[in-house]
Amino acid sequence: MNFSVSVVIPCFNEKDNIEILYRHLSMILEIYPELELIFVDDGSTDATLETIRSVAEKDPGVRYISLSRNFGHQYALKAGLDHAGGDCVISMDADMQHPPELIPVMIEKWREGYEVVNTIRGDQKSLSVSKKFSSGLFYFIINRLSSVEIKPGIADFRLLDRKVVDALKQFSENHIFLRGLIPWMGFRQTSVHFEPAERHKGTTKYTFTRMLRLALDGITSFSSRPLYLSIALGSIIAGIAFLYGIYAVYVHLFTDDALPGWTSITASVLFIGGIQLIMLGIIGIYLGKLFIENKKRPNYIIRAKNF
Ligand code: UDP
Ligand code: MG
Repeated sequence: MNFSVSVVIPCFNEKDNIEILYRHLSMILEIYPELELIFVDDGSTDATLETIRSVAEKDPGVRYISLSRNFGHQYALKAGLDHAGGDCVISMDADMQHPPELIPVMIEKWREGYEVVNTIRGDQKSLSVSKKFSSGLFYFIINRLSSVEIKPGIADFRLLDRKVVDALKQFSENHIFLRGLIPWMGFRQTSVHFEPAERHKGTTKYTFTRMLRLALDGITSFSSRPLYLSIALGSIIAGIAFLYGIYAVYVHLFTDDALPGWTSITASVLFIGGIQLIMLGIIGIYLGKLFIENKKRPNYIIRAKNF
């Protein structure tokens, strides 16, 4: 086989998962002579880096990048992709939820001519009801709001052709959301299904707030439609206020019960104030992104690497 394979694995406090993942990967991917495994230590505070180092000492095919702090999953992935040298590059989680056995299947698809092989996770039992619900809601909203189609259940477990990785290197935007960016990029894409396993050791790094942040990034990086929300809502409210104004004039001119309308004034002021704050918030999010983007900061900073 005259092609090389890279596997990129972002790790944040995954010390108990690295060795078992390494054993599985090297067993399953033995058939590919030119193989590199790139572990990206995303500022772990446990012995993750030491574990990776000890694995790397025994196997020259194991590389690592250690980031200077926790930059987040998407940036750790980006760091790994930027440094991967393979003709095809696979990214996967460190916690054994992404089955290594699927990689040869993905490579087969790539050999058939696909440039991106996505994976879609099946409806697993291990997923909590709340995660299922929030992820369902997220995909529903993002697909209504943005012009790229993001398939529900798409995982950050995918194969990219060299061409795609090179194109991705040119992206330096912050707030990366690869699950949206990759479909947006085009190329010949396909997907395979898998049933995710239970996390081997440790706990999920995606707390509710982190998921919410990822979801907001996903939506606001791929659509400016929420900005138009203010126009729509504003016009509806202005319309209602106008009608109410006519009614108030009518009451004043033609009836005797024009009491000082304290209640209605308070209610409408509060209501409009609330809407304005929401709209300011939406505008603020985009403005904040412009501010960050404008600095053109690097996506991540590397402290150490062995290649
Ligand atoms: N991860 C990372 N940096 C972070 C959070 C997560 O590199 O700040 C890695 C983590 O080590 C794992 C992958 O991203 O390999 C997916 O995270 P996790 O399994 O916690 O997410 P879940 O599967 O629960 O959605
Ligand atoms: Mg996981």
